[in-house]
Amino acid sequence: MNNSVINFGAGPAKLPQVVLEKIHDHFLKWQNTGVSILELGHRTPEFAALGEKIETSIRTLLRVPNDYAVLLLPGGAQIQFAMLPMNLLADHQTLNYVETGYWSTMAIKEAQKYAKINLAASSKDDHFRTIPAIESWKIDPSAAYLHFTDNETIGGVEFPQVPAVDNMILVSDMSSNIFSRPIDFSRLGLIYACAQKNLGIAGMCLVIVRKDLLGKAMAQTPAVFNYDVESQQDSMQATPTTFAWYVASLMLDWIEEQGGVIEMNQRSLQKSQLLYDYLDGSELYRNEVDAKYRSRMKIPFTLRDASLEKKLFQQAHEEGLLYLQGHRSVGGARASLYNAMTVLEVEKLVEFLAAFATREL
Ligand code: PMP
Repeated sequence: MNNSVINFGAGPAKLPQVVLEKIHDHFLKWQNTGVSILELGHRTPEFAALGEKIETSIRTLLRVPNDYAVLLLPGGAQIQFAMLPMNLLADHQTLNYVETGYWSTMAIKEAQKYAKINLAASSKDDHFRTIPAIESWKIDPSAAYLHFTDNETIGGVEFPQVPAVDNMILVSDMSSNIFSRPIDFSRLGLIYACAQKNLGIAGMCLVIVRKDLLGKAMAQTPAVFNYDVESQQDSMQATPTTFAWYVASLMLDWIEEQGGVIEMNQRSLQKSQLLYDYLDGSELYRNEVDAKYRSRMKIPFTLRDASLEKKLFQQAHEEGLLYLQGHRSVGGARASLYNAMTVLEVEKLVEFLAAFATREL
């Protein structure tokens, strides 16, 4: 990224400047291999060492229990929407899903192709601005798992913690908030996250799965979509997305150097509070998410006078504040405050929004 601009995009998203510089410096010759990381074979000892280092970092940063496998799979998070039922349905008939926004709805649509879905809860009638109280969830106890989307990237709704559902394996899409806080694995059977937000670049998906759930895939599951096969092959059943692995390793180093996920959580609380406090006190902007479930990573907001939106984006762009436009499905504006975003950069956004409001009100 050019130093004079700030990338608020939803993903592929901003990377820390030092990570970009490292990629630049190592680009033509990586370590002592004599070749670029782009040219390095995945069966070389150097790449195997990189894979091991990534796994160790993930296990350390997230305190992954030993009975979970760590997989780095090709493709993004949407592939998981299909891989979950393919791999985990086994001899169950149904799957529980909680619907809290765009991405959980997509996950349901895909899973429906493979299994009967029990919609345990939905906030659709509340315009996806909240999470239904857990006491109201209608869980089918015979289902293979219960799926929830930890952070709805478009709606800006985040689970404050893993829902306290017992006697049911929980599966979670953590694409847009992984590595932003510690994870309590005790109820979780599987989590997954595409890499292009907090773990580097597009092309790769992190899956962490309890090992006793492996080995139950539908017979017709392609080998590259089979968690058990990938686990046995160290995520190299097919040629892995080597460059995405490499960038992930740099991101993990960076998170470690910054103080790990506890520090990331503190920063994300500080950054998001800064922006929410400003929006809540302003006459012009509005965030309508239930305060209990507001996301630390993704803050959508609208302008009371929607006709000013175009002007806002144009002036923001002129000042180097990029990609604040909301998702094409909902419009409005949104700021992505992933790990790479600094407090200072959020302060700059607030200053800009305040100056714009003063001019327009
Ligand atoms: N789930 C969530 C929560 C997301 O934010 C995204 C992407 N923005 C996806 C799934 C889909 O990921 P991909 O485009 O990598 O398939």
